[in-house]
Amino acid sequence: MKYVIIIPDGCADYPVESLGGKTPLQAAYTPHMDAIASSGLVGQSDNVPSHLPAGSEVANMTLFGYDPNRFFTGRAPIEAAAQGIVLGPHDWAIRCNTVTILDQIMVDFTADHASNQEAREILSSVQAAIGDARLEFTPGVSYRNLLIYRGRPSEATPFSSETRTRAPHDLTDGSVLDDFPRGPGCDLLCEWMQKSSEVIANHPVNALRLAQGRPPISHLWLWGLGKTPSLENFEKRFGLRGAMITAVDLLRGLAALVGWDRIEAPGATGYLDTDYASKGKTAIAALANHDLVCVHIEAPDEASHEGRVEEKVKALEAIDREIVGPVLQALRDQGPYRILITPDHPTPVSTKKHAHGWVPFAIAGDRIVSDKSNTYDEVSAAQSGLQIPSGWELMPRFVQGDW
Ligand SMILES: [Zn+2]
Repeated sequence: MKYVIIIPDGCADYPVESLGGKTPLQAAYTPHMDAIASSGLVGQSDNVPSHLPAGSEVANMTLFGYDPNRFFTGRAPIEAAAQGIVLGPHDWAIRCNTVTILDQIMVDFTADHASNQEAREILSSVQAAIGDARLEFTPGVSYRNLLIYRGRPSEATPFSSETRTRAPHDLTDGSVLDDFPRGPGCDLLCEWMQKSSEVIANHPVNALRLAQGRPPISHLWLWGLGKTPSLENFEKRFGLRGAMITAVDLLRGLAALVGWDRIEAPGATGYLDTDYASKGKTAIAALANHDLVCVHIEAPDEASHEGRVEEKVKALEAIDREIVGPVLQALRDQGPYRILITPDHPTPVSTKKHAHGWVPFAIAGDRIVSDKSNTYDEVSAAQSGLQIPSGWELMPRFVQGDW
């Protein structure tokens, strides 16, 4: 038996006026997703407890079958795991975005998708100016970088689970004045943010960007800090060997933490220009030597963050055509299977931000009896009446065929 999970990140949405009151999922032409809905069942799950941040870090931990109330320690340690960074018992990982803040407004939480090279140069200068044996500014992919805090056993940890930070993608277009870190260690985080902004204000990278008519990288925004979570190995728990296909460090990290292989699809970018067909082909190839293959596509979430509804619809159509269709065909050709389509969390294009709340899922395959739904979208999922308020119960039920 083979299992496939397809995660169009942030695809759940609200009705959009320019789409005639439809959601992007309703408006998009997605015959393969609809085929899964009509041969199987649809429902709603809630993947993010209200007290935790509405983001991929929590919602995907939930989708993988782990209760974030018990296991979530922060976003950054998950991304550290993706990079193979080992955290000791006194170490903390802190997410470090290159961002553009102008006149105290969060203009762009990606700093115009800072290139790997730009981020590397900026972080290296900041490391030289304020880093030390305890502070490691570590480049990742594009704007998604890390600061590793190496704690000493002899010293009290400045941070705790009470330290509060704000995700910069939730601050888009708003003032950041009230959104700097709070709680234990916040003075340190604010100090590093302030000092780094001084180091990069007149950096050659910014001089070049301004000459190119691009906004500057004004700050390193620190957030999502935590220690390494201890997640039970997925294969030990479910008896299935898993593989993850994604272009996003966060998902690679979660996969690493539960013991899934990470398989890179050539041309996958984590953005709207990603090579969808490559992801589909990579998933099909991975089925040969894995029991469960999970494909994550970031593009719908990115389109939402930019408020580009047409791009979101296009991304969903490309996912359906290049990934869901071919993968579904390959599954049918090889024998018994079960397939699940679900986003992690809603990211409405109207707000450009992640949201708490129900997301629609569709499941088809072995031992799944049709619930007579015809389409996969928010409305059909709500009408089905099937609700899973503790989203981490979806994975065990999916694996066991328990419906
Ligand atoms: Zn997400």
